[in-house]
Amino acid sequence: MPIADFLCVVCGEHRRATGRQLVTDLMQSDPIGSHQSVCTGATTPLPTTSTHGREKDR
Ligand SMILES: [Zn+2]
Repeated sequence: MPIADFLCVVCGEHRRATGRQLVTDLMQSDPIGSHQSVCTGATTPLPTTSTHGREKDR
């Protein structure tokens, strides 16, 4: 059974969808984007992008 987890590292909200239909719904509903508008943890974007590769700044 497919399982999809959504965890907001900012406020700690956790959502889990189990089952193909629920997983599909969760993904299509853009949980991250929709959560950011209601996230109570911080106003900064989620640190989903790392800064790897920016070390060679010359
Ligand atoms: Zn959040």
